[in-house]
Amino acid sequence: MNVFEDAVARVERIGEHAGIAPEIVDVLRHPRETLMASLPVRMDDGTTRHFPAFRCRYNSVLGPTKGGIRFHPHVTLAEVQALALWMTIKCAVVGIPYGGGKGGGIVNPKELSPMELERLSRAYVRAMVDIVGPNRDIPAPDVYTNARIMGWMADEYEAIMRRREPAVITGKPISLGGSLGRDEATGRGAYLSILELAKRTGLEPAKTRVAVQGFGNAGYHVARLLALEGYKIVAASDSQGAIYSEQGFDVESLYQNKQATRKLKAVYCEGSVCEFVDHNSLSNDELLELDVDILIPAALEGVITQENVSRIRAPIIIEVANGPIEGSVDPVLEEMGVRVVPDVLANAGGVTVSYFEWVQNRQGYAWTLEEVRSRLAEIMSRAFDEMWQVSESEGVSLRSAAYAVAMRRIAEAIASHGTREYFQERRGEDR
Ligand code: NAD
Repeated sequence: MNVFEDAVARVERIGEHAGIAPEIVDVLRHPRETLMASLPVRMDDGTTRHFPAFRCRYNSVLGPTKGGIRFHPHVTLAEVQALALWMTIKCAVVGIPYGGGKGGGIVNPKELSPMELERLSRAYVRAMVDIVGPNRDIPAPDVYTNARIMGWMADEYEAIMRRREPAVITGKPISLGGSLGRDEATGRGAYLSILELAKRTGLEPAKTRVAVQGFGNAGYHVARLLALEGYKIVAASDSQGAIYSEQGFDVESLYQNKQATRKLKAVYCEGSVCEFVDHNSLSNDELLELDVDILIPAALEGVITQENVSRIRAPIIIEVANGPIEGSVDPVLEEMGVRVVPDVLANAGGVTVSYFEWVQNRQGYAWTLEEVRSRLAEIMSRAFDEMWQVSESEGVSLRSAAYAVAMRRIAEAIASHGTREYFQERRGEDR
């Protein structure tokens, strides 16, 4: 099963259990449209390379499609479609007026010069311009894309359309219409969902040891906010490997040093002087299997599988990455008593503040950071509560509950256009 088939199988399984009508599940089986393109990019040495790229608009029942663009050497069509399906569920879980979409390019951006990366980003927009737009499909950053790239992409779109259109893309630099608080939004949303969980289960920050896989945008901010709250961040990793310390790390020191050296090292920094601290070096696989209280996968999908699930020791997993747990593993983790706060809720802070950015761009009025944070907290708390209620009242996992909330919302919108029963009852009425 590839990652997309796995994502669809999960929708089918949960949909059936939650009593979702088969025709609604059927809608969610089919990506609405996917554009595949080859992006010709002039390299600095004068040669031209062609990078395959995708954009998928999965489902637009609840609004224009929304989702990030990933530049990574392992991007596949199946991955983009799975991510777009998860975006569909995610936007419905938090109740924002979007459908789900996603994009990707098969490229290792670390091998490109800044100018090559700009040409690639602009080529992506030229290829996808027919399906992208502020009322149609609104991209954002994802793995290995960032605010600067979003700025180039918005600029290219505006050049083609010959008008200002900042709402075409979110996650832009603040000076180009980005929203305050967007950079930290995914991490903050995950942090808020951990606070909600703590309220209901009595987690005590000072006694709670956390391991974070992936110290990028999402992983860093969730670690930073948890540390400020008193949680102990005992392990962190990036694509090169993991570090572990029973005492816990000073998250700001790790971040500051990583910014300066591009490497994640076990350090404590006073001003600009950083010193190594006692630690163990681990592989990313070993980090996943640590005996900690909370495990936060915040890198890529498919890291907890049938192969390693039996070795997972954390009783709580917060899915900050999209799809870090393979669908077939859900029942095993349930059986093991592991509580999983699913990606479609735990990392929804990013798309929620992207929605705020889009609203601000359309209003032509920028919100303060406090407004962004308090509205995000309101949405995360409401969505967590809805998921929790369904989980408690229907006796299902948090993931099943979140999917049920989302699918019921999508079903209601589809039913508003008329169901089979509606049309059957009225057949012949107007003839
Ligand atoms: P990012 O590019 O900022 O960071 C990714 C991090 O993962 C980097 O530190 C990288 O070194 C690390 N990494 C890569 N391969 C790894 C591996 N094999 N093992 C361990 N670490 C590895 O990306 P991000 O924006 O932080 O996204 C991370 C995850 O969060 C992705 O699954 C993404 O889809 C999801 N997400 C991000 C946002 C957002 O707004 N940034 C929103 C929702 C979901």
